[in-house]
Amino acid sequence: MALSGLDIYKHLPKTNCKECGYATCLAFAMQLAQKKASLDKCPYVTQDAKAVLESASQPPIKLVTIGSGADCLQLGNETVMFRHEQKFYHPAGIGFLMEDTLTQEDILSRLAKINALIFERVGQKIKVDLVALREVSGDRAKFLNLVKTTLSSTKLNLILISGDTDALKEAAQLSKARRPLIMAPSKDSLGPLIAIAKENNLPMVVTGETFEELGAAAQKAKSGGVEEVVLLIEDPRLAGKIQQFTLARRSALKKNARPLGYPIMTFTALEGAHAELEEAVSYVMRYANLLIMRNIDRDFVLPLLVSRQDIYTDPQKPVQVEPKIYEIGKVTPESPVIVTTNFSITYFTVAQEVEGSKVPAYIVSCDAEGMSVLTAWAAEKFTADTIAKAIRTYGIAEKVSHKKVIIPGYVSVLSGKLEELSGWTVQVGPREASGLPVFLKGWK
Ligand code: SF4
Repeated sequence: MALSGLDIYKHLPKTNCKECGYATCLAFAMQLAQKKASLDKCPYVTQDAKAVLESASQPPIKLVTIGSGADCLQLGNETVMFRHEQKFYHPAGIGFLMEDTLTQEDILSRLAKINALIFERVGQKIKVDLVALREVSGDRAKFLNLVKTTLSSTKLNLILISGDTDALKEAAQLSKARRPLIMAPSKDSLGPLIAIAKENNLPMVVTGETFEELGAAAQKAKSGGVEEVVLLIEDPRLAGKIQQFTLARRSALKKNARPLGYPIMTFTALEGAHAELEEAVSYVMRYANLLIMRNIDRDFVLPLLVSRQDIYTDPQKPVQVEPKIYEIGKVTPESPVIVTTNFSITYFTVAQEVEGSKVPAYIVSCDAEGMSVLTAWAAEKFTADTIAKAIRTYGIAEKVSHKKVIIPGYVSVLSGKLEELSGWTVQVGPREASGLPVFLKGWK
């Protein structure tokens, strides 16, 4: 069982010296229990206490790194079941299967398409993470050719999958600098797989039909010198898999079940692009850390990446754009000036509608602590004062030859006071950004 804050407190020095950065030992203990602090921040913990508290100070789900350098993929280290309790830390890795029966032309074409799966949404770049190379031909030369071609054609992280552990060993050595995740489909290959992972310092996948088997395989890898392990959980039914993922996560977080305290990996299995997308989104929502799928169609990958971006956004930190003046289109001193908040989704929705209207305009994005218009208004972060201050300090008066500002229809109530404070004529725009194209076309 995980230790409570009071359990931990019993083992701390209780001198309240504050060197850990917390006002009291009890406050530090409470943070430790929630995995929000690390034990090494207290210089006075005894060796005996350290031994007891070790499990409380370690993340319940091991951090596993696939790849090296800035583009590496980190999985795990999660501390909560639900995003609103704190946040999810490491977005699920999304990869695509490549088998060694593909022709050379198809390998190159598929890799080029996978490399191009990069999108921009609310000012952030979202992209896929891996390519999973699977040997199915029984021909070692074909598998090694797939590995070599992939190494020279993509910077994405790699997973190497083969039942031929000699081929896997050779592929692991070839790609060692890229630190691939290695996997053998059969649990009978566990021993050789551990040896390859240990020799090349690579993370590895363990398989098993039950949690007991998975836990035992993970423990065997650990005692064989491999700390970074990923659990492959499979079930013929989508609901069965989600149930197993949830149970594994709950056991690791709530019961401190160390053998299950590793990231979870799975493959999509349903046929058809729509079914595979629905399956993939379900796994990313609950609680796959690494997902391998087949369909590389951009129209199906984008919604999956958007879902992942949403669930892994910190709910306590709204996604924001920089508060400043944005120019949309070829603006002139006669262009309209639109005011909105700096919540990313609000800003980009407004910017998109202005762009679509073909009427060049300035957008003054006010610092509303990343809240949407109505929320910010209710929280008094988007007021006549804050808008007047933005007009004054961002320098919009130097860019236009008029003194008219358009505010969102939802905050029309601010008009009078804003005119008073800013000296600008306030025009009330539409309530929804979708009304902007018509509004701007008739703007004077
Ligand atoms: S540094 Fe250690 S002894 Fe000092 S307040 Fe923090 S937990 Fe207590």
